[in-house]
Amino acid sequence: MREQVFLRSGGRCERCSQEIDIDTFHAAHLRAHRNGGPLVVENLAAWCARCNLTTGGVDVADTRVFPRQWQWRALEGVVERIRRSQVATVAAAPGAGKTVFASLVFEDMRASGFVDRMVVFAPRRTLVQQWHESVLRCRHVELHPGGEVERRGQDGVVVTYQSLNVQTVGVHGNRPNCNARYSCLTRFIKSASRLRLERVRPGRVTSPN
Ligand SMILES: [Zn+2]
Repeated sequence: MREQVFLRSGGRCERCSQEIDIDTFHAAHLRAHRNGGPLVVENLAAWCARCNLTTGGVDVADTRVFPRQWQWRALEGVVERIRRSQVATVAAAPGAGKTVFASLVFEDMRASGFVDRMVVFAPRRTLVQQWHESVLRCRHVELHPGGEVERRGQDGVVVTYQSLNVQTVGVHGNRPNCNARYSCLTRFIKSASRLRLERVRPGRVTSPN
């Protein structure tokens, strides 16, 4: 990753244009780590030591992907529907930005205190990895891939349907102080099965009413 950042810079500090060296340049976070900026190429810049030491720790740029027009338009309706009935269905074409949209819904609902974590169910392991990378890179939301419980600092989990069974969920529920998460997860499993039963109308975003 370091090499990638250096190559993009063309050997010059991306802040002051001074020449930098591949062994000594600083890979600086554009959105600061303490504010949720992740260690991904898009959020790193090749800087000279001086630029990094004089600007370190603050946000220089917001490198999150800005919502597309349809995402802005659909967001309010979908959030409102989930608040009211716990369920909303969004059907979008491949490449339309479904993962980013899901993250936007989560971020919006977390900001208003309605939820505190995100759980994603995907049919295959390759999709688990794709979800993990996509929401981290695009929205700086970090989901623990393949785990039932996120680590400290992560925002939730992304798992396959198959990985969710009574055993894995039960083991976690038996750990001390985990009852809240346990019931949270089972609630998500219930709503996920309801989601799959809903009829999806291609090309339409479900709106309130
Ligand atoms: Zn510099």
